[in-house]
Amino acid sequence: MLGTMMNVPLLVSSILRHAATFHGSTEIVSRTVEGSIHRYTYADAWIRSQKLANALQRLDLQFGDRVGTLAWNGYRHLELYYGVSGSGLICHTINPRLFREQIGYIIEHAGDRIIFSDLTFLPLLESLADRLSSMKAIVILTDEAHMPKSEILPNLVCYETLIADEPDLFDWPVFDENRASGLCYTSGTTGDPKGVLYSHRSSVLHSMAISLPDVLNLSASDTIAPVVPMFHVNAWSLPFAAPMVGAKLVMPGPNLDGASLHSLFESEGVTFTAGVPTVWLGLLDWMEAHHQTFSTLKRMAIGGSAPPPVMINRLETMGVTVRHAWGMTETSPIGLTATLMPKHADLSADAKLTLQAKQGRPLFGIELRVDSPEGRPVSRDGKSFGAMMVRGPWVASGYFQSPKSPAHETDGWFNTGDVVTIDADGFVQIIDRTKDVVKSGGEWISSIELENIAHAHPAIQEAAVVAKPDERWGERPVLFVQLKPGARFSRADMIDHYTDRVAKWSIPDDVIIVNELPHTATGKLLKTAMREIALKQLASHGVAE
Ligand code: AMP
Repeated sequence: MLGTMMNVPLLVSSILRHAATFHGSTEIVSRTVEGSIHRYTYADAWIRSQKLANALQRLDLQFGDRVGTLAWNGYRHLELYYGVSGSGLICHTINPRLFREQIGYIIEHAGDRIIFSDLTFLPLLESLADRLSSMKAIVILTDEAHMPKSEILPNLVCYETLIADEPDLFDWPVFDENRASGLCYTSGTTGDPKGVLYSHRSSVLHSMAISLPDVLNLSASDTIAPVVPMFHVNAWSLPFAAPMVGAKLVMPGPNLDGASLHSLFESEGVTFTAGVPTVWLGLLDWMEAHHQTFSTLKRMAIGGSAPPPVMINRLETMGVTVRHAWGMTETSPIGLTATLMPKHADLSADAKLTLQAKQGRPLFGIELRVDSPEGRPVSRDGKSFGAMMVRGPWVASGYFQSPKSPAHETDGWFNTGDVVTIDADGFVQIIDRTKDVVKSGGEWISSIELENIAHAHPAIQEAAVVAKPDERWGERPVLFVQLKPGARFSRADMIDHYTDRVAKWSIPDDVIIVNELPHTATGKLLKTAMREIALKQLASHGVAE
């Protein structure tokens, strides 16, 4: 027997409709690419999204067509999220930090029919002109006063002109909630990028789940600043979750440096923000150098890679509660948060920090399994480790136009590629990426653990540990460091620092000091590049005894 409840589909358009109707006067504040601060309300965003949806219909796009965006976090990008997805098209957020070749590949693979781009990315589009000839239009997200002239792309369309004369009302279609709403490519360090195709249902459910108190704890009393870009896994769904709960939204635009973020947070009264550790490191260093504090910020979500415990500690000391989160493009992204449980209230500060530095426990909606190499569940002792497998309504079952889906390979579960431990309470800790773990003499050494310890050294700005091949042990760890300005660090300092913190055989064999550590387009350490450097350097002068 079926239940007798209404079968109303979960659609992205319903989120902004709700915000416009019941939180209509709540503000959306954006730092624009043109430099000024723009403010309007959810009611205004709803009207302009309808104008955009009407314009897209006029351009004769068909249900399911892909619309590319190359844009920072700002109000026009928000209108695209709703105008495009809400009208049954697919919003393809392109990551401008990828290599030019990869961007060309992604645009072609997605089959984008039209591209909306911030002014910043015009040179990039011009360099890809030969791959854009079949586009219906290239629209620049600006007004007539700021429209650029391009000899290479002469038919650029101005966004404000495109929507100016369109009606304020759009007849939002109602359709199956499983239809695709958004597309985001994930780029590993090898192989072509793969497209993760979100559905309306997955986007709405994920946004509801992340708003819960023990996840990100979002409410209408918050002022939310998504610093994580809207081109990277929908800015962790915050452009959906903020209007869903009716929170004020503050968008940083292209300015992600410490000074700009701090002044925006302070002037707009930001209470919650989210982003990757690298950005927060820049903000914290700037604040320390300028003797600044936060006067309104209460909570910060950190994810995408592991925040060093010293960073969590620095923030908590400043009165900011850290929510460490784990996620992937394939998991929409949030799957785990390291939220303390009531029984942890009386733990020492150090014990709390140890738990917060773990990747965390699954939120409802994510099923989790940790498999030993033989495919059996590992014991929940916080020590045994295995491959982390997940399943749930916002986990990808396959990639866009890719014959082989990840879930098919693994029996309906998605293999995250992360090697983890899990404790009795379900706190998961990443030991490594499957491909980054160092296997020395048959034992696994966690590169992440060694990196966290290195980050606690006062001379070190950023650290990375990679494996180098070793005849005797199979692999041995090597430490890469970028030093703080003027600091010194030797191999002897390294050995001193690790002694008594890890087993002797886990101490890296050598340290390589570089001006800057290489990162992928999404800010993760590019370990393939470091492995090559390690091989070359160590081959030329050997490992110091
Ligand atoms: P991406 O799809 O590019 O966001 O990359 C997902 C991968 O980033 C995960 O499989 C993890 O290896 C890594 N990652 C994400 N969040 C965390 C975290 N909190 N701590 C450590 N690694 C993380």
